[in-house]
Amino acid sequence: MGLYEELQEALNSDRVSSNETILEQHSKDESYHTPRFPDVVVFPETTDEVSEIMKLANKYHSPVVPFGLGSSLEGNVIPNEQDTITIDFSLMNKVLEVRENDFLVKVQPGVTRSQLNKELKKYGLFFSVDPGADATLGGMAATNASGTTAVKYGVMRDQVRDLEVILADGAIIHTGNLAAKSSSGFHLNGLFVGSEGTLGCFTELTLKVYGIPEHTMAARASFDSVDDAVEAVVGILQAGVPIARVELVDEQSMKQMNLYSGTTYKEGPTLFLEFHGNEAGLNHDIEFTREIVLDKNCKEIKFESDTAARNRLWEARHNVAYAYIHGHPGKKQMVTDVCVPISKLAGAIKEARVAIEDSGLSGGVVGHVGDGNYHALIMIDPANQEDVEKAKHVNTRIVNYALKRGGTCTGEHGVGIGKQEYQEKEHGEALVVMQKIKQALDPDAILNPNKILKNNSVKQL
Ligand SMILES: Cc1cc2nc3c(=O)[nH]c(=O)nc-3n(C[C@H](O)[C@H](O)[C@H](O)COP(=O)(O)OP(=O)(O)OC[C@H]3O[C@@H](n4cnc5c(N)ncnc54)[C@H](O)[C@@H]3O)c2cc1C
Repeated sequence: MGLYEELQEALNSDRVSSNETILEQHSKDESYHTPRFPDVVVFPETTDEVSEIMKLANKYHSPVVPFGLGSSLEGNVIPNEQDTITIDFSLMNKVLEVRENDFLVKVQPGVTRSQLNKELKKYGLFFSVDPGADATLGGMAATNASGTTAVKYGVMRDQVRDLEVILADGAIIHTGNLAAKSSSGFHLNGLFVGSEGTLGCFTELTLKVYGIPEHTMAARASFDSVDDAVEAVVGILQAGVPIARVELVDEQSMKQMNLYSGTTYKEGPTLFLEFHGNEAGLNHDIEFTREIVLDKNCKEIKFESDTAARNRLWEARHNVAYAYIHGHPGKKQMVTDVCVPISKLAGAIKEARVAIEDSGLSGGVVGHVGDGNYHALIMIDPANQEDVEKAKHVNTRIVNYALKRGGTCTGEHGVGIGKQEYQEKEHGEALVVMQKIKQALDPDAILNPNKILKNNSVKQL
């Protein structure tokens, strides 16, 4: 019996597939990176089945790529070796337990963000992390995803209390517990969150949830310059306004948004804002914010309290990436993802704008500016080597600018293959520590090999 037959025996045969269409679906993510087919895709339903798959992968020295929804942007799920087994977690999609009094929920990794929020709504609760795409919780934990609400509630790493993880040899461990704090042992939650499938497969996640706010208000504030918009954000944060979301969309992206979403928003650098709280607190926050943005030369501020208008506003914001894709038929998007200290944000965004213009490529800048994270969305033809090189040059310029100012090459999308070349520059000697951790936990390099770290050897810098 070979690997395929043993996998069929471990799972029901209909949950082991080498069908061309299935392989194609698991050969790519949402990025411009070149797809590559895995050899086989498996669809486990239980923790024990995942453990069994890992034991077989070990036996046959087969690489394993965990797969959530494939919405990642740095080639994170693209196999890069022969004989790859992709583990698709879509059938492990149950909300296992809602502990409403503890503000905790236990889920399987294939549960999606919107599926979880639909279930939590019954309890007056919600899960805060919103990366725009309807990603799986397993994938979001593995990339340490964040998005629009991180400025108030934090990133995935802040929400994870415990993970059930299958290690490379099939062993099953828990990385945390249910307590709100702990000083016990190394912080394994912190290590495994953001490990992009290179250290283990998550089979259960216990996550923090929040009470649905009594009132929510959204707003749109337009400016003549990105500088003014960013200064307004700094002013809002310095004033201690507990803003729940603050997003910057530049002029080019506002134009794409209006074309795609049918909105008629003013086409200048714009902040999209959201406030959560009780009525009295909210009114105070709104008035304070209005004063701050007007002081920073805001040209127009419009508040939206009714749910439909608010949803429309955030839908338009979340669809900016698709607006660019729709506006550039046949092209793919390269998305940069640096994060800088907030004091360096205005300069960083200006540098990104100049880098895009110098390249001659079409693109814009959007950002989760409350935490200094922004994206340049650059449209390229992946088959045109000149386009790819130009976009890579823009990316490098943006990353180098961020690293020189104490920032990071990726705020939320992860390293995958796209950000590997910046790891040494960003981490220095600490990269050797990461290599040693990888070697200790996955000595044969079967877990998502050659992602984050280039190979499994420990290289003294
Ligand atoms: C239009 C658009 C907008 C986006 N905006 C944002 C944003 O604002 N913020 C943000 O953070 N991201 C954003 N993303 C990126 C993306 O949604 C995230 O990277 C997401 O967290 C990946 O989840 P997924 O379920 O699609 O995982 P996948 O893409 O399938 O996998 C991502 C990584 O997780 C690993 N993985 C998956 N499941 C498991 C598991 N069970 N155990 C261990 N490892 C696993 C994979 O091996 C891979 O390395 C955006 C993407 C798109 C397309």
